[in-house]
Amino acid sequence: MEVGTENKQRRGQHCYEGYMYTKKDKKKTRIQWGCTQIKSRPCKGAITTSLTLEDVSVAVVHSHDGDLSTVEAEKL
Ligand SMILES: [Zn+2]
Repeated sequence: MEVGTENKQRRGQHCYEGYMYTKKDKKKTRIQWGCTQIKSRPCKGAITTSLTLEDVSVAVVHSHDGDLSTVEAEKL
């Protein structure tokens, strides 16, 4: 029930165009994100963003469709 704990868990996640990503690496000017479903599907979907999470560029296309319901749930 503690909000602080929940925020901590979500800090390393990012959603973009119906896909959820977890933070993989942080460079000087870019953050690398990997698909959260890499374990449940053979998906290597990945994006990079600027440090402010703007300027998204797709590095590896997903092997599956995005799950908008998951992303909507994350926004709540
Ligand atoms: Zn994926």
